[in-house]
Amino acid sequence: MLTAAAGLRPCVFLDRDDTITDTYGATRTHAVPGDMGDPSLVRLLPGVPAALAALRRAGYTLVVFTSQGGVARGAYSLAQVEVVNDRVRELLTKELGEQPLEAIYYVPFHPTTGTDPVFTREHDWRKPGPGMVLAAARELGLDLSRSWAVGDKPRDVQAAVNAGLARSRCFLLATSGEAGSDCADLPAAAERILAGA
Ligand SMILES: [Mg+2]
Repeated sequence: MLTAAAGLRPCVFLDRDDTITDTYGATRTHAVPGDMGDPSLVRLLPGVPAALAALRRAGYTLVVFTSQGGVARGAYSLAQVEVVNDRVRELLTKELGEQPLEAIYYVPFHPTTGTDPVFTREHDWRKPGPGMVLAAARELGLDLSRSWAVGDKPRDVQAAVNAGLARSRCFLLATSGEAGSDCADLPAAAERILAGA
């Protein structure tokens, strides 16, 4: 069980694709739907900017943690991950007049499907491993005992649970049609977080 630590900040960990952005919808005709390397295709899901602004007003640090195994498959490059992330930040800034995301952590590795040997390996940042959450907590001074996590895949939730978050502080969204979802979408998860779950 995690205990609160003085001076550390509570965080909401957010998956990127199909949590913040409509990635599957924008890439459904691609060879591998969900691969997002083109910034011109980035679309925010409805209500996401307002939900993130409300979480910021409530004092939460917002950190994105995203799997980008498409880099290992050669579907897109590290540079393309960065420009897509920049586009997400740009769209949020346009809506809100300020940047709500403190950091975007991503992991380009995949142990089996890779074509690029540099990225074809296991890595402790890969979900459901806790590596990205733990690295962010260490580097940004986050209090995991008061933090939350939101994602559209069970591995998003499991990564946060493996980092020590209570399952009740993690929300599996229905945006990708996963069974056993906790909330419809990110705005609904934000409402639960703001209400103290
Ligand atoms: Mg996702």
